Amino acid sequence: SHIKQVALVTGGNRGIGYELVKQLAVNGFKVILTSRDSEKGQKAAQILQESKLDVSFAVMDVEEKESIRQAASAINDQYGRLDVLINNAGVYLNEHEKLLAMDPGILEKTMATNFFGAYYVMHAFLPLMEKQGYGRIINISSGYGELREMAVPGVGAYKLSKLALNGLTQLTAAELKGDIKVNAACPGWVSTDMGGPSAPRTPKQAAASILWLATIGSDGPNGGFFRNGRQIDW
Ligand code: NDP
Repeated sequence: SHIKQVALVTGGNRGIGYELVKQLAVNGFKVILTSRDSEKGQKAAQILQESKLDVSFAVMDVEEKESIRQAASAINDQYGRLDVLINNAGVYLNEHEKLLAMDPGILEKTMATNFFGAYYVMHAFLPLMEKQGYGRIINISSGYGELREMAVPGVGAYKLSKLALNGLTQLTAAELKGDIKVNAACPGWVSTDMGGPSAPRTPKQAAASILWLATIGSDGPNGGFFRNGRQIDW
């Protein structure tokens, strides 16, 4: 019988992450929706299960190494594989205009989620991909992470976290062995709790513009940063 590929999305309980879970499942993946909050995550997974989608739930707080370790171990025991990992969980905190005038805790918290979160999740789940010599990792970044953005003041903590995430994507791409690839993607400006109600894009459109990276072939890109299918020279 046909064995389904397994995909995992961080921050899958709402926003772009939720839509990524849904579209992966619609496209034939067995999807693990992860969330730092059991109740919210289970509720979100249940809605998708009620539409007959192959979605399960696992709790994972990307700021907590022990939480990541436990999720990776449970998923290894239960599925024995991971084919697609999407590092989507992120925060955009209420920042002071000036990086050096703001509470340094804002920078630390933003880096902890947007950068170290993705790093530790990759670190914990890579062995499941290495074991099978196959994997596709997508890091959800932002146009704010482009180098040219560093010349413009404001949103400093968020910008640095996404710049570092882009760097992490490129650095680790060069290290990966076998048919394992990692790419970064910008979803555009999306109407979510983070993006706000004025954003022109729906989470559905955003997810659709990213999902192709989950199914690229062995000749596909590695270490790139994409928006709407086009590589960004960041
Ligand atoms: P939302 O604020 O709507 O959702 C963020 C998600 O991340 C929530 O599920 C949230 O969980 C989760 N999350 C935050 N911290 C953690 C953590 N420590 N552990 C696990 N999950 C966590 O944001 P979007 O859907 O808009 O954003 C998704 C990604 O897209 C982010 O990386 C963001 O930076 C990026 N992006 C968004 C843009 C936009 O316009 N919206 C533009 C460019 C990039 P909880 O519900 O528990 O808070």
